[in-house]
Amino acid sequence: MTDVIIIGGGPAGISAALTAMHRGKTALIVSSAPEDSPLWKAEHIDNYPGLPGVTGRELIETLLRHAEGSGAQLMRGRALSVLPMGRSFGVSVGSDFAEGRAVILASGLSRAKPYPGEAEFLGAGVSYCATCDGMLYRGKKVAVIGLSADAPEEAEFLRSIGCEVEYFDASRAKKYEILGSERVEKLLADGVEYEVSCVFILRSGVAPGSLVPGLELDGPHIKVDADMATNVPGVFAAGDCVGAPYQVGKAVGEGNIAGISAAKYVENILKEEK
Ligand SMILES: Cc1cc2nc3c(=O)[nH]c(=O)nc-3n(C[C@H](O)[C@H](O)[C@H](O)COP(=O)(O)OP(=O)(O)OC[C@H]3O[C@@H](n4cnc5c(N)ncnc54)[C@H](O)[C@@H]3O)c2cc1C
Repeated sequence: MTDVIIIGGGPAGISAALTAMHRGKTALIVSSAPEDSPLWKAEHIDNYPGLPGVTGRELIETLLRHAEGSGAQLMRGRALSVLPMGRSFGVSVGSDFAEGRAVILASGLSRAKPYPGEAEFLGAGVSYCATCDGMLYRGKKVAVIGLSADAPEEAEFLRSIGCEVEYFDASRAKKYEILGSERVEKLLADGVEYEVSCVFILRSGVAPGSLVPGLELDGPHIKVDADMATNVPGVFAAGDCVGAPYQVGKAVGEGNIAGISAAKYVENILKEEK
């Protein structure tokens, strides 16, 4: 059991983890590959105090080193769901699982709109995790829409267990629609039909509304109060996922507040349990 699970290893998540640890709490950062972060692509960050001219990549690598050097645990992978379990939360990460007393969402801005058919067939031939669901489709033809750094590797895994994989990335198709009756039967990619039993959609993140049931949103953003608390007790949020301006300095500041709030929440739970 970790005190605080942080979803997202960008500036907001790392700031939250460092602050929670400074408040005497254990912290686990769950994050996709660093190269999936939009910050990785920034050529120069010139407005973050103390680090003039740093590249996005250098900044992420420095932040991750700081977090790990300070004792944060790091779990690589996509968090797929956050489920309340009495006084704690279960977070599924691919086929792994982590349990924490509080959760901080620092998942960045979710720009992805679901494809037509995606929500309808989720669990009936649409999957976000090759490791979790691949075995169900051994010997069958599946499609992989690869939108994350680890997607080619995941497609290779599916091939290794006997799936016939039709792989799509941004250079192969732009528009998708998932079709079927009770289960997925076809993928339409830029107007071309492919008969498949499953469509694996491998994004670097998961839209916050799908991640936490009942989470209140304001358009693409998570609603929070001044303590960075969401409407779900024990779940906090910080950074680009709660709104503009989309800036490193703002993300770090909000991560700091979320880290303090989550630590206080955990302290109260522990007091009540005594
Ligand atoms: C090209 C570019 C240039 C920029 N230049 C500047 C600049 O000069 N100055 C400035 O202040 N800001 C700049 N920004 C903005 C800055 O990068 C963001 O504001 C900042 O990174 C937000 O931090 P964050 O921690 O909220 O989110 P992010 O940095 O987006 O980090 C979120 C992380 O969470 C991961 N994640 C998401 N969902 C999940 C999940 N379900 N499971 C596991 N991991 C997940 C993502 O893959 C990502 O690694 C720039 C952005 C871009 C794209």
